[in-house]
Amino acid sequence: MYASTVMAKGAGLLLKRSIFFPFKPWLINALRIAFAVSVAGVLCQIKLHYLEALTYDFRMAYKPVAETSGQVETIAIDAKTLKELQKDPDGDSHQKLIAELRKSKPRAVVYVFDPTSIKGELEEVQAFTDEAAKLDAFYYGANLLPKQGHESLLKLDPPFETIPVFPAPKTSDLNIFAKDGVTRRFIFSFDGFPTLHPLLARTYNGLQHEEDYNGLFEFIGTKQAYIHFRPTGTYKAHSFVDVMEGKVKTKQFHDKIVMVGKDTLETTKDYLRTPFSRNIVAMTNLEMHANILDTLILNQSPLLSPKWQDFLLTALISILTVFVVLTLRPTKGILILGATVSGFSLFCYLLFAVFDIWVEMTHPLLSIFICYYFFIPYRLIIENRRSWEYYQKNKLLTQVEELKSNFLRMMSHDLKTPLARIQGMADIVLRDKVRLNQDQQKAVYTIADSTEELSEFIGSILSLGRIESKEIKLNLKSKDVNDLLQKVIDKSQYLANRKNIDIITEFEPLFSVKADEDLLKQVFTNLVENAIKYSPDESKILVTTEEVDGKMVVQVADQGRGISEADLDNVFEKFYRTKDVVNSDVGGSGLGLFLAKYFVELHHGDIEVESQPGQGSTFTVSLPMDV
Ligand code: ADP
Repeated sequence: MYASTVMAKGAGLLLKRSIFFPFKPWLINALRIAFAVSVAGVLCQIKLHYLEALTYDFRMAYKPVAETSGQVETIAIDAKTLKELQKDPDGDSHQKLIAELRKSKPRAVVYVFDPTSIKGELEEVQAFTDEAAKLDAFYYGANLLPKQGHESLLKLDPPFETIPVFPAPKTSDLNIFAKDGVTRRFIFSFDGFPTLHPLLARTYNGLQHEEDYNGLFEFIGTKQAYIHFRPTGTYKAHSFVDVMEGKVKTKQFHDKIVMVGKDTLETTKDYLRTPFSRNIVAMTNLEMHANILDTLILNQSPLLSPKWQDFLLTALISILTVFVVLTLRPTKGILILGATVSGFSLFCYLLFAVFDIWVEMTHPLLSIFICYYFFIPYRLIIENRRSWEYYQKNKLLTQVEELKSNFLRMMSHDLKTPLARIQGMADIVLRDKVRLNQDQQKAVYTIADSTEELSEFIGSILSLGRIESKEIKLNLKSKDVNDLLQKVIDKSQYLANRKNIDIITEFEPLFSVKADEDLLKQVFTNLVENAIKYSPDESKILVTTEEVDGKMVVQVADQGRGISEADLDNVFEKFYRTKDVVNSDVGGSGLGLFLAKYFVELHHGDIEVESQPGQGSTFTVSLPMDV
């Protein structure tokens, strides 16, 4: 009744398992991949410019600083200029500056602030514009981008009308992209017309077409690219007043693009935020223009990896994450994901630092977190269900084990009484042998032997029950082992006599040891009786005792059937009997050596066997002298 309930519970578990996992493993894997790819697909549709800009700035900030082209020189109207001139440079000062620059024959001179802001007498200003017109190339790079039909905005009012104006606008991510006010891009061309920077750059690198330039992308009617920034201070500006007064060697500017701008800290319009710093005066417009020019001259604009690559990387990393979360142990999983995050970040950094390739990091990294946190609860459910199953199975096994022990104990107890009665009756009948004929005597002896065997078996089962319920306690008393062995041999002598087996003893005088007499008797009885059982008639058994290295060693050697090498390890197992013995008519339970080993180990001793099949076996018990 109980067993059938237990079995029903087991069947229930199996049933639940098959309902829970109705899919084949390949289908489950396909579903996982489909999920990961969908996450990647959806994620790549979401624009995460701000986060991406952060990773971009990080890469830019820690990138080794690239060499400049050496073709760009900057001149700043700075604090020193204001101090020495005691005012903003007027038309006269600008005329002097240009006159000084003309001596060195620069390739072009570009004003990156509004020249109409130059104050002074009309003649002085006129003298400045006249001087400028004598240069090979003189431009005003204006911070504007006139729409078609509004080109008139690029004409300056008199007396500046002779200065050619070209758009050279400053960008900042205010309403688009990262929206953090940082300048990262420049405008290469609009409505198909190049801005000032590519026009100047091409005079050095000879690259005439848009397609020749790295990293250009389309944005609302313009072609733009990212600036290859060098940190603030890379382009050291000459002080306006120094150049004007001829304190800077003129050959410094020969054949170069000389840019003139402001660095007076009077207005934030002359400054910008950069990927290196969010400070509103992180860099002068002047230095930004120098950066843009060098980006173009050296064709170093970072190359943004295409969308499909972003999707592919995101999908691959999502798939990896899903499999890691669902199949690996949590600590290993976390380690692998940590390594993936760092490995991927390093990979992106190196591509940027070495090849100026900008691989988007945000989508792949976010996909790790999304897939991880999506599947963690699922994983927890699976783990919980698994431990619940283990718990149930364990409970079931404990119940079955308990049931078995109770059953064995009950059976053994109930068998003992009738068995004792049979043994008693057989003894009574044997006392009056004369009344029995030969066959009857043989039958009664068989009854006596069989009941003896059965009662030994029951004894073993009871011992096993006591072991399993941990009831065995050592009852230690000082004992002479030689004495104990002699008693065992005397008791087994009648068995040996029946097979004409000679038991030889060689006992060394030993000190008494503390031992449990009953248990040790059971050990030695088993060894001696096994030796008799598994030996042929007329053979010899040698039982020796000696003291070796503070241990008491008992050996029982026979000339019996022996034990094969494969069986040597198993003979001490519970219920184990070798195949040849099972197939023979030699009785036994397979418990004797298991109990012997257990009892010897209770005494902190050791039991071993050496054997040669067909030649005999030697069992060695060693017991410490002080248990
Ligand atoms: P059993 O009741 O079968 O003798 P044991 O636990 O005492 O159980 O022994 C386990 C098995 O080890 C035996 O069945 C037998 O195959 C083997 N064995 C034990 N002692 C000897 C021996 N002296 N010679 C050969 N085989 C032995």
